[in-house]
Amino acid sequence: MDEIENVPHREYAISVNTDNLQEAIASVGSALYGLMEEALTAHEDHEGEDCEFEAFARDVLGVLMRHAEQLSADAVWSDQEHQGSG
Ligand SMILES: [Zn+2]
Repeated sequence: MDEIENVPHREYAISVNTDNLQEAIASVGSALYGLMEEALTAHEDHEGEDCEFEAFARDVLGVLMRHAEQLSADAVWSDQEHQGSG
């Protein structure tokens, strides 16, 4: 079991510095999309079996894609007043 390759150490850090909830969600959502896509790309093919991770990743990507406009900082949550008064 000595197959640790010389890949550079990778760190994932997501930091959002905003007092705007909508903006925070947009940033984290975009970051999640990127990570999911990367994980799915790196995921090895294995045909013929159900894969819980793949189902999860595709669901998440699907949801984020369907609401892509919500991942931009100037998304408008127009159905309700989420911004509070001010
Ligand atoms: Zn899989």
